[in-house]
Amino acid sequence: MAMTPDYEPVIGLEVHAQLRTRSKAFCSCMVRFGDPPNTLVCPTCLGLPGALPALNREVVTLAVRVGLALGCTLRRRSRFARKNYFYPDLPKGYQITQFDEPLCEGGFLEVSQPDGSSRRIGIERAHIEEDAGKNIHGDGASHSVSRIDFNRAGIGLLEIVGRPDLRSAAEAAEYLRQLRAVLMAVGANDGNLESGSFRCDANVSVRARGDTRLGTRTEIKNINSFRFVQRAIEWEIAAQVATLTEGGAVAQVTKNWDDEAGRCHVLRTKDGSDDYRFFPEPDLPPLVISEAFIAAVASTLPTLPAARRVSYVRERGLTEGDARLITEHPSIADWFEALAAQTTDAKRAANWVCNLVKPGVVTHGLNATFPLAVPALAGLFARLDDGTLSSTIAKDVYAKMVATGRSADAIIEAEGLRVLRDEGAIEAMCRGVIEASPRQLAAYRGGKLALLGYFKGEVMRASGGRADPRTLDVILGRLLAV
Ligand code: ADP
Ligand code: MG
Ligand code: ZN
Repeated sequence: MAMTPDYEPVIGLEVHAQLRTRSKAFCSCMVRFGDPPNTLVCPTCLGLPGALPALNREVVTLAVRVGLALGCTLRRRSRFARKNYFYPDLPKGYQITQFDEPLCEGGFLEVSQPDGSSRRIGIERAHIEEDAGKNIHGDGASHSVSRIDFNRAGIGLLEIVGRPDLRSAAEAAEYLRQLRAVLMAVGANDGNLESGSFRCDANVSVRARGDTRLGTRTEIKNINSFRFVQRAIEWEIAAQVATLTEGGAVAQVTKNWDDEAGRCHVLRTKDGSDDYRFFPEPDLPPLVISEAFIAAVASTLPTLPAARRVSYVRERGLTEGDARLITEHPSIADWFEALAAQTTDAKRAANWVCNLVKPGVVTHGLNATFPLAVPALAGLFARLDDGTLSSTIAKDVYAKMVATGRSADAIIEAEGLRVLRDEGAIEAMCRGVIEASPRQLAAYRGGKLALLGYFKGEVMRASGGRADPRTLDVILGRLLAV
């Protein structure tokens, strides 16, 4: 980056992913969004005296799925700990988490780069913990009122701590996208940044290029969109470089990203490590997982996004960029594969999926609603294959298919949209355009050959985009040469 000639950015992301379980991690309250506040609570998740936690097996299954997908070592015997701190959204006064004996350690994510290569980003650890409640500030009438909704308190989270291996804001955003794709692919998380079920803290430092020691880092909390992640990190890198360039020192602080202002603000200082007085959770036994359990979970893992990307590029000829876009959401990848199975040209299918279909897909967590059905688009491709449509007209037909729900054939028939190959008709249009453009014709014949594009465009327009380009080229070339 031209902006940072002498400094190298170093970034490590911490992700909190809500595990897609029916009930919470340590009680049987339901996990749901949008319910009235404080209706999905019980003595355990409210931390009332005497209530005891009991670990939800599904939390473990999903955490193991992620651990396996990220190539982590799974601790056969892990433990829960209490992280003690006071905050209004934390009813017990401590969070159940895993501290020195986490379930998953030492994995990696293969992050594909724009040039098609990939870089292995280390995963330090991934551990199970519980979510806190949510503070709601202001009630419409008064800004001085804050309320707390505990529906979220006690939902199972997987905290995935990435190693400081990322080297640019763009790479960090890509890592986040690809990590999210893995979590969604294994069904562990719904990938929803806006609703907060997938949250990210970014740790950022810079160091002199060539230096192997880590610089002082700042931590940007709770960034809730991919765009913001990239902008926030870019801003923070520039700010740190400016500080160091001026001879100052980076302060170890916690910040947040203010997108309206386009900058980070300091939330609090963070000197050394905070003292959470961690101690083993006395109300939960150690978590012991058997080889048989791990093997059973492993046998149900789907093909992961990275493997899908590689096979799309190597076996189906897709570009790296298309393969990446398609594997960002498992339902989109499934849809693409179904389409590719019904058509002759996977690369074209990928192109259409990325440029036309995907922008019209509405995702809701792991579910996706497509603007049309796979066989409908395959039907349109068949009309491209047999030459009935040019690719320009096909795009119009596609738009009409999406708008009306009718088939490609029905639209082609009703609107007479076939490619025009009739040489007589095309020649007549060419003559019409040439007659109407005496100045351009003289210039063209005088040597301004670039005007060929003008003539082609005019005839194409006259034909409503339907003239067969090759026939048009031949006829126009002949008429203009005279
Ligand atoms: P904490 O819990 O205080 O945030 P951790 O040791 O768990 O501290 O570190 C969290 C994250 O910070 C990790 O994702 C790690 O990669 C990242 N990190 C640590 N040191 C640096 C650094 N100097 N620059 C950038 N990221 C860092
Ligand atoms: Mg942290
Ligand atoms: Zn509960």
